Amino acid sequence: MSEKISIIGKSVPVLDKGFVELQDVMGDDLAIVNAARVSFLGESKGPERDKKLLFYLLRHRHTSPFEQVEFKFRVRAPLVVWWQWVRHRTWHMNAQSGRYTPFEENDFYYPPEWRKQASDNKQASDGVVDEMAADELTRLLDEHYTQGFKLYKKALDAGVAKELARLFLPGFSVYYTWVVKADAHNLMHFLSLRMASDAQWEIRQYARVIFEEFFKPVLPWTAEAFEQHRLSHLDISED
Ligand SMILES: Cc1cc2nc3c(=O)[nH]c(=O)nc-3n(C[C@H](O)[C@H](O)[C@H](O)COP(=O)(O)OP(=O)(O)OC[C@H]3O[C@@H](n4cnc5c(N)ncnc54)[C@H](O)[C@@H]3O)c2cc1C
Repeated sequence: MSEKISIIGKSVPVLDKGFVELQDVMGDDLAIVNAARVSFLGESKGPERDKKLLFYLLRHRHTSPFEQVEFKFRVRAPLVVWWQWVRHRTWHMNAQSGRYTPFEENDFYYPPEWRKQASDNKQASDGVVDEMAADELTRLLDEHYTQGFKLYKKALDAGVAKELARLFLPGFSVYYTWVVKADAHNLMHFLSLRMASDAQWEIRQYARVIFEEFFKPVLPWTAEAFEQHRLSHLDISED
């Protein structure tokens, strides 16, 4: 059985309550090579020449053959992550609806550390607050979540629609589940932006899991070429 088939259904935890699950894949490295060779109605010429062609395609940004491969994921992530993910317009997405599905008391994200504001970049974080301050912030966050959820329940109990009652929830922290699909070309674009060190730590965790746990096993040649010709030019180091 190929690696591709064996990891369909695999789910990897991300953050405190999230996950990425591979729901489906269409295509493999050879599909990319064969799509490129249709130009002259050819097909595979053996692993060595196929791999060489694939590296050539990636290096020279001959991108459309990479769009022949598709990945579909089921992802659970806090809204702060979705807020950034949805900017990637080439993805196809369907989301859990807070109008249909009520939220539960533990549907909120707790950061593992309280990162400090970076002094040299208004968008970034740098370092973490000390342990005592962190414990206090986590306690306050917990209090905030408990209060928000209590008010949400109160509104529901008063007969308010779920679409309005959710105004009481701490918005950016709420976990939502989505089904998302992207082709390999646009997935690499997403990964190069969201694995980079200037992306928010939370979305980087999702991008890293997608690359390491799913992209690499399904497209080993493409992943190698992508690392060599794209990621090596980026800072993707963990903080
Ligand atoms: C570190 C970081 C910080 C950011 N900060 C901000 C911010 O402060 N404010 C903010 O608003 N956004 C911010 N963004 C989001 C950013 O501007 C992009 O919207 C997001 O990264 C998606 O990139 P994209 O448009 O290239 O990707 P996609 O939407 O996936 O598109 C892929 C490519 O397809 C092409 N494309 C897709 N749709 C169209 C279209 N309709 N017309 C023309 N070409 C199209 C483009 O070439 C594009 O590069 C940030 C992103 C990052 C990574």
